[in-house]
Amino acid sequence: MVDERILEIKNYIGGDFIDSPRGDFLGVFEPATGRQFASAPLSDASDVDIAVEAARTAQPSWGALGIRERADWLERIADALEERHEEVASLESRDTGKPISLARSVDATRSVSNFRFFAEMLRSQDQEVFEMADASNFVVNKPVGVGALITPWNLPLYLLSWKIAPAIGMGNSVVCKPSELTPMTADLLMRVFDEIGLPEGVVNLVHGDGIGAGSPLVSHPGVDFVSFTGGTSTGGKVAASAAPSFKKLSLELGGKNSSIVFSDCDMQSAVSGVARAGFLNQGQVCLCGSRILVEGSIYEEFRERFVRHVEQMKVGDPSNEGTELGALISQDHLEKVLGYVELAKEEGGNILTGGSRCSPDGFEGGNWMLPTVIEGVGADSRCATEEIFGPLVTLHSFESEEEALGIANNTRYGLAGSVWTGDLERGRSFSEKMETGMVWVNSWLHRDLRAPFGGVKDSGVGREGGRWSLGFFSEAMNVCVKRD
Ligand code: NAD
Repeated sequence: MVDERILEIKNYIGGDFIDSPRGDFLGVFEPATGRQFASAPLSDASDVDIAVEAARTAQPSWGALGIRERADWLERIADALEERHEEVASLESRDTGKPISLARSVDATRSVSNFRFFAEMLRSQDQEVFEMADASNFVVNKPVGVGALITPWNLPLYLLSWKIAPAIGMGNSVVCKPSELTPMTADLLMRVFDEIGLPEGVVNLVHGDGIGAGSPLVSHPGVDFVSFTGGTSTGGKVAASAAPSFKKLSLELGGKNSSIVFSDCDMQSAVSGVARAGFLNQGQVCLCGSRILVEGSIYEEFRERFVRHVEQMKVGDPSNEGTELGALISQDHLEKVLGYVELAKEEGGNILTGGSRCSPDGFEGGNWMLPTVIEGVGADSRCATEEIFGPLVTLHSFESEEEALGIANNTRYGLAGSVWTGDLERGRSFSEKMETGMVWVNSWLHRDLRAPFGGVKDSGVGREGGRWSLGFFSEAMNVCVKRD
């Protein structure tokens, strides 16, 4: 039974849920059906002003708390969020179109572990001291101040919690701006903060689009740092507007990642691992491996097994336990991905499977596409080098490590990759030569939250994860005490 009520969510500023005074709203749509199910304020610069003011007011007393007290707050958030595990999963699935199993295992679970992980890290921080013969250097990690946290639609709560936890853990206050396409679980998180009594103004949230709310937030003189995750071209605009006021900046941007399959791999696990890397979340993960490079001697066998595997993936009702691929985020995005299918044909590509819309029963109005595998486009073609961010992968063959490396490094992006081989030494040394921030050998998206996360080239600036997050969300100061 479909709930036809339109849910109304509000901004969260200074501990209150408030509408934008002008009363402008944006519709929130279910990707699976195309139906509107919620509305959110379409905020502008004046809403951003109030939110930044609330964050500035809250920051000094929040920053003055001991690090262990703030760790306790993160733990309380994790506990309260965990109690809403199923609510988070079903809301995220509804808002993004992703399968419920994925929303449970990744979005709902990881959001809780982000808060727990950083709570634990804060508790284990030791005073760093560099001794000299006649002096001691004490490192003091101070809050930066007020931060802007801007997030995309593909992993809404997962990415927002990944920023909020270390940001407030280090004593900052923040203003969040989630994607206008998927604002629902950000609202749920604000309700959790409200419920547990997090001091008002420590976390504020304005809904709205990039031009109306995101841009004035980034350039706001009351904002000291910006942590942005989103597309590369938006990242360029964010960097340009943050630069004149020397804001501290972290950019996690787009990717076009390679999965490299060597002939000595375990074929079965490579086929399923590379398919997972290509199609998780309908290919809408920045880390997805959408260009698959296969050693010539096993190319035909791999292609046959891979296409068969992809054709067996279940596309359909996101709320169904067995569904593997849900809907794409929007009609516009679906059109963009289908546009690349046409481009692939012009670039000499041969569609091995998929390549078109599909329409599961009962979901005719949604944004659906079959998982698509294409061969025959050049490794330097647009289809093989531009970020498509959908359920579309291209296959390429190579004859030597050198050739594979040349193809892998031949994009403007440098986010992630995976290497599949029976020779772990080779896997490691090959990976180190790749121009990316992260590589998995014989796996993909196997995450340890202590490890650095981020990209090179047009995939971003800076690193998140473990101590890299704590470093970004703080200012290290040295106090040198000279002894007599
Ligand atoms: P997007 O760049 O369109 O939007 C991201 C966010 O920025 C949204 O909240 C949007 O409203 C806001 N925004 C838009 N214009 C802005 C402006 N001028 N100033 C400030 N904010 C602005 O990205 P998207 O379509 O939501 O997400 C998909 C992209 O995100 C893909 O390129 C994907 O690779 C990337 N991504 C990267 C990572 C990573 O960790 N590297 C993770 C997830 C997604």
